[in-house]
Amino acid sequence: MFPTNCLLCEQELTEPWGASICPGCWESLQPFTGPSCERCGLPFASPLAADFVDSLCGQCRQGENEFDMARSFGFYTGNLRKAILQLKFHRREHLAIRLGALLAQPFEALCASGLTIVAPVPLHPSRRRQRGFNQAELLARGLVRRLRGEMRGLQLAAGSLRRIRPTLPQVGLSVSARRQNVSGVFSVARPEQVRNRRVVLVDDVMTTGATLSACAAALKRAGASRVLALSLARATPQFPDSA
Ligand SMILES: [Zn+2]
Ligand SMILES: [Zn+2]
Repeated sequence: MFPTNCLLCEQELTEPWGASICPGCWESLQPFTGPSCERCGLPFASPLAADFVDSLCGQCRQGENEFDMARSFGFYTGNLRKAILQLKFHRREHLAIRLGALLAQPFEALCASGLTIVAPVPLHPSRRRQRGFNQAELLARGLVRRLRGEMRGLQLAAGSLRRIRPTLPQVGLSVSARRQNVSGVFSVARPEQVRNRRVVLVDDVMTTGATLSACAAALKRAGASRVLALSLARATPQFPDSA
């Protein structure tokens, strides 16, 4: 049995595969390849901006993020946003695996090679119990499954990070409130797993980068040599996540 309508456009599905998304909607999910901040991947409003100074956005020039680099597949808008909401609120595992595979594209930009730990951004245990799963972990699984053939050193470490206290939802908070909200809430369960290792953090949506940065800080404290942040969608001020 499969739902007879596409989760995104609601047209009738004629094929059982595709994680309940029609071929046309899958085709509409295309990676962002325009000019962006060299470090965090924030898209620049115009191609000209990429030629300025050192190709860094304001936030990166001020050194506000703890991760070494961040990239996203696309923007948190349209069909990609709809797909993430379907995954997040309906536990669609097949969809997560397919969406996680899309992370292979921005993963390339991170130039990770050799032994690399893939660590999903954790939920607090109470939130996880409530939801029944962690969408970031499902995406990380999809990524690792997609790359396993070509990257032998890739290792999923789902439990390597822990959220040690619950936090307010980041949606609707200012940039500084977001940073404060997640400051010190992450810890590394098994530091020996990440020490002197390259770690790729995985999350569904990156907005200001506060959560990924707080995770990166914990990983760096535990001895990770490099922390790279990967997300499916970037919510920029032009595409606010509160919409
Ligand atoms: Zn569709
Ligand atoms: Zn930046």
